[in-house]
Amino acid sequence: MIVGAKSFFEYERPELAEIFHPAFRATQIYKSVYQRWFDEFELMTDLPKPLRASLAEDWNVKLPALHRRFDSSDGTRRYLVRLADSELAETVFIPEEHRSTICISSQIGCALACTFCLTGQLGLTRHLTPGEIVTQVLVAQRDNLSWDMRDSFNIVLMGMGEPLHNYDNVMKALRILHDDEGLNVSMSRITLSTAGLLPPLERLANEPAIPNLAISLTGATNEKRNQLMPVNRKYPIEQLLDAVRRFPLKHRQRVTFEYVLLRDVTDSPQDALHLVKLLKGIRAKINLIPLNEAEELGYKRPSDGAIESFRQILIDHNISAFVRKNRGNDISAACGQLKKKWADEPEKVVHPVGAASRLDCR
Ligand code: SF4
Repeated sequence: MIVGAKSFFEYERPELAEIFHPAFRATQIYKSVYQRWFDEFELMTDLPKPLRASLAEDWNVKLPALHRRFDSSDGTRRYLVRLADSELAETVFIPEEHRSTICISSQIGCALACTFCLTGQLGLTRHLTPGEIVTQVLVAQRDNLSWDMRDSFNIVLMGMGEPLHNYDNVMKALRILHDDEGLNVSMSRITLSTAGLLPPLERLANEPAIPNLAISLTGATNEKRNQLMPVNRKYPIEQLLDAVRRFPLKHRQRVTFEYVLLRDVTDSPQDALHLVKLLKGIRAKINLIPLNEAEELGYKRPSDGAIESFRQILIDHNISAFVRKNRGNDISAACGQLKKKWADEPEKVVHPVGAASRLDCR
């Protein structure tokens, strides 16, 4: 079978409509790839046979190969997706009863160097392309969801990387995922998490289609945040919160604040009260994330009692606060852990994604 060099997943439909003649072929192929899960042009029998052959010579609609898949006893699945240059992108599928979550990466490594994050220790290797971001979603969707449940997932950009540092590629990927002739994922099902890069956050606020916003906070004072998240030294907490206050929210929409609980660093009652004061007047909910301990990180997870006391202070001040369940602990849970451990190990594919799944949809 011939596989062309150009990755179809890198292109938005309007771009393809400029390339293909007649232009409606772009929509036909988009539907076949994103809605019918076809990974060969030969299967697209609504296209003339000579066109299928010539498309196959130039274009590639195959998903990337898996380097490894790790299955947790709680149903969580973690993927190391092998990219064209052999870099590995981490993707996680978290099953839920009604709507599962697909957590994707936006960069290989990260430049922001948060001290509680393993990805931050890797430094930035490179940005992911739009197609490399889009195909992570497709890999997880096709490997986990039955045909009937194929749209039952949310997407969170909380994997490796700071999405706003790779702004143009991330936004292009979101437009591809959102296209109603493609995967048609509503922006209300997508959450972008940022550590607080202000110029691109202001830019995001002016986009025609905006995902849900999550702010990785982990520290409610400049002193704490400077120590934990170096980005705060450039964009201090009050400037970040001002930008959040200006961020356009729909009716009943709230901004999520992620707060990593580190023993004796961010978990005291005083820290909780700082947080209450900081978020006053903001439509917010807080995800408390007890640290996923890793040898390389010099922090500890707080006790269950300290976690609950912290949450209770927030609840007592009428702030919605949830403790995020640690999922997939038995398969290296913290972001960045997998790549660090497995990059030099040989490839071990559990089964190829795509072919078997595609049969389910017929
Ligand atoms: S927490 Fe996010 S922004 Fe900070 S180093 Fe890790 S991936 Fe980068």
